[in-house]
Amino acid sequence: MDNGKGGVLGADVTRDTKPDDLIVIAGAGGFIGGSLARYFHDLGYRRIRAIDRKPLPEWYQRVPDVECISMDLSKEPNAIHAVEGATEVYNLAADMGGMGFIERFRVECLRSVLINTNMIEAAYRAGARRYFFSSSACAYNTDLQRSPEVRALKESDAYPAMAERGYGWEKLISEMFCEEYWAERSLETHIARFHNIYGPHGTWDGGREKAPAAMCRKAIEAIDSGRHQIDIWGDGTQTRSFCYINDCVLGIDKIMHSEKLIATPVNLGSSELVSVNELVSIVEGIAGITLERHYQPDAPKGVAGRNSDNTFIESVLGWEPRTPLREGMAATYKWIAGEYAARKAGKLVAVG
Ligand code: NAD
Repeated sequence: MDNGKGGVLGADVTRDTKPDDLIVIAGAGGFIGGSLARYFHDLGYRRIRAIDRKPLPEWYQRVPDVECISMDLSKEPNAIHAVEGATEVYNLAADMGGMGFIERFRVECLRSVLINTNMIEAAYRAGARRYFFSSSACAYNTDLQRSPEVRALKESDAYPAMAERGYGWEKLISEMFCEEYWAERSLETHIARFHNIYGPHGTWDGGREKAPAAMCRKAIEAIDSGRHQIDIWGDGTQTRSFCYINDCVLGIDKIMHSEKLIATPVNLGSSELVSVNELVSIVEGIAGITLERHYQPDAPKGVAGRNSDNTFIESVLGWEPRTPLREGMAATYKWIAGEYAARKAGKLVAVG
């Protein structure tokens, strides 16, 4: 994995980091942070520090040879300790979940601003070479997302600002921190706006799960119980695109190491738009069942439609997330079915 000049090779990304440089990943007990720790470990990085607020037994993934620390990064002394000696800092830590969580707990979502504020200042003071922030499509102007037949969102659509209440505004202000730390203090920052990331090792039960995982779990429960029904939040016509986790971690790596994407928010999402009804049909096909659909018009459903315009990322990187939804959902379903069976058998599994 060494490129001969001491840099880490792999995944068609040009990096100046060396295998012994310290990579710090905040939120690594969670879905994307845990997958990123595994990705960098597999690329050959030997010093990875993974941090999360959750107690270690609740982490979704514990990657061998990765230093794992349980601590709250919304506290300044912890953030300072977390980034000591870091070459690169990836901030994936946030108090978040699917629509059911972010519509109900707006204060918790907003308070994630403390994590980013402390982490970026600490990274700057520690002399880190680069800082990554995980923003969201929820930062986009909600006025542009009132119809299921949406125009895909391009990066400039975040302004004039009318982000999703709570969660979306936190992302927007944290993006701005990243932009100003570069402009005023020359800390190299990189910002990706994720669009509905899904895949194995994510939250699949407990209230924070998102639609793809929730649909898989509900289908598995229906098979298990013999009651072939499914509750669908809203009327099922809401549209979204869903990005597979492998595309997401590769995209983070590419974005972090692109000189053309410094302090420049960029979409990281799939442009394969589907309705929630279509997503259910995909899950039915994978599970091999037909479910009676029960619509819940009063349940949290978010904006009517949202898709990722990938013109910018494609023009800069010559790449965009391409895993077909059907393929990614099959892998996700298989993993959740395994976790469900393990839990039923009395094993301790992390769900959310
Ligand atoms: P996740 O909930 O699985 O992971 C986030 C982790 O952050 C959790 O393990 C949580 O314990 C940790 N955390 C929360 N507060 C903390 C604190 N004070 N100190 C330390 N750790 C703390 O979520 P995820 O899906 O992996 O999301 C990662 C990042 O990507 C988040 O910033 C999220 O807002 C962003 N994002 C995710 C999606 C998606 O579809 N999953 C979409 C848009 C943006």
